[in-house]
Amino acid sequence: MISSVGNYNIYPYGYENRLSPCYNQGLPPQENTSKTLVTAISLQFIAVALQKASEWCGKNLMKGKEFTSAENVKRIANQMIAKNKLNVRTDFIDFNNINNYPISMRRSLEAVAKGQNAFYSNDIKLAVAPKSRPSLILHELGHAINSSKGKLLRFLQKSRGWAPAVPTVLLLLNDSTKRVDGKKNFIERNAGLIGFSAFLPTIAEEGLASLRGIKAAKRVLGKNINISALKRNYFFALMTYVIAGISLGIAAKQNIVLSKRT
Ligand SMILES: [Zn+2]
Repeated sequence: MISSVGNYNIYPYGYENRLSPCYNQGLPPQENTSKTLVTAISLQFIAVALQKASEWCGKNLMKGKEFTSAENVKRIANQMIAKNKLNVRTDFIDFNNINNYPISMRRSLEAVAKGQNAFYSNDIKLAVAPKSRPSLILHELGHAINSSKGKLLRFLQKSRGWAPAVPTVLLLLNDSTKRVDGKKNFIERNAGLIGFSAFLPTIAEEGLASLRGIKAAKRVLGKNINISALKRNYFFALMTYVIAGISLGIAAKQNIVLSKRT
């Protein structure tokens, strides 16, 4: 999976397990300790469940069928490029053509060759999809079109670079804005929602990329083409991003809850 800003994958980033390993080292003498403990454990259960749900969506995406032939997908892709005057190269990767690329890209491309990933790199203007799953290229070209459509959409794309830092930023802000009367401040009350909201631009941009692919498929192949397989695949791809957003909210909340123990 590509991890630098400017690359847009069909699968999202994962979030690390945020529960401190020193969790079982005894309880601090605070009134709300047991409540905090229950909340922290509940959040961790939710985090694990979300991870499983994301894996399930990823598996469904991998099992998904192609909605049309590779030739048709190429026609749609070429039409998306021409209509939007994109300066983007597309390629369908397998283990035969992977060696055409620099060694620095090998790890990312191996995942593509295995059918586990697809990506668009705005830096090198390249969209790739697995040769076994060509229809994923339409979503990646959706990202390329988003990149070409002005500052707002580019902002949405770039937000994925800083969104994962939000739980840590909230923790730091919360530490410096604690209320003297002991009541919860805005960050403590809304950490989960703020964390999730930080990922909303990414979810929106991902959804829009898929919609552009679906629209192009209908435009080129006609309204009678059955694109339910494409919609299904893109739905599971989007769900992994929705789950990643919820996970980010949970991580933000966990940070705040665990910080109360000290
Ligand atoms: Zn994407």
